[in-house]
Amino acid sequence: MGHDVICVDNFFTSQKSNVTHLLDRSNFELIRHDIVHPIWLEVDEIYNLACPAAPGHYQYNPIKTMKTSVVGSMNLLGMARRCGAKVFQASTSEVYGDPEVHPQPESYRGCVNPIGVRACYDEGKRAAETLFMDYHRMHKMRIRICRIFNTYGPRMHPFDGRVVSNFIRQALSGQDITIFGDGSQTRSFCYRDDLVEGFIRLMAAPDEVSFPVNIGNPGEYTIKQLAELTIELTGSPSKLVYRPLPADDPTRRRPDITLAKQHLSWEPTVPLREGLQKTIDWFRTIDPEQYRPPTPNF
Ligand code: UDP
Repeated sequence: MGHDVICVDNFFTSQKSNVTHLLDRSNFELIRHDIVHPIWLEVDEIYNLACPAAPGHYQYNPIKTMKTSVVGSMNLLGMARRCGAKVFQASTSEVYGDPEVHPQPESYRGCVNPIGVRACYDEGKRAAETLFMDYHRMHKMRIRICRIFNTYGPRMHPFDGRVVSNFIRQALSGQDITIFGDGSQTRSFCYRDDLVEGFIRLMAAPDEVSFPVNIGNPGEYTIKQLAELTIELTGSPSKLVYRPLPADDPTRRRPDITLAKQHLSWEPTVPLREGLQKTIDWFRTIDPEQYRPPTPNF
């Protein structure tokens, strides 16, 4: 779109090679920085996607995870207030916890265990939403809150620890596919390009859209179905193996995207089978050895 872009990353779950193809563009700048510490930039718009989002990574240092969402958001909101920037918060379907309402509309207040192992992420993101709303009410700041449901696609980290990357990596290398629990828990998987389109539309929406908006694909699958589809699309001989279900793992998750349709004219366009095939095709082109596992917990 011709914007000047400043990318700020501490590379905890990422690496510089993700953006090396952008480094010689005159409108792209890269800063290695952790938003837990203040930063002083002059910008028009901020997309705050900081915070590890895979359970293994956000549980690696839960105090740091909470700080990233809370202290990091305060730093960005302070900066946005000073330079009059519009600021977008990447929130999450985890604000709904293990939901009793299905599918989840934005009006549902959630069922989160505040003292469980997922709380550093869930409650951190919930507190960030509170901060965004309070800066909006108190200082009339222009904010956007996007509740992101499970997302996947090419260029996701092969050792991200997420179910899609784990299953594809396991299937392509002929390893066992690790299903946590009995595989009956559900998730709704949104393809990367659809998500990014949702971000851009939300940022461009009228300032009245300062309330949280779900962005996700309402197609709901059990984890076992995802494993079977991955085996089918890769033609892998891998077998399914069952491992204990992690604590507080939500049993089902599906976005109600009525608000996104109504206010952003947005809905996903890429079905799981098609998106998974594209993701598998990309995984076939990479050498996972070139990627550093972000934590020992992948
Ligand atoms: N999962 C699994 N095997 C794996 C990784 C994850 O069965 O190798 C399950 C996990 O227990 C959860 C679902 O897949 O029920 C989605 O997990 P992920 O970590 O991708 O995202 P989240 O739990 O945050 O939705």
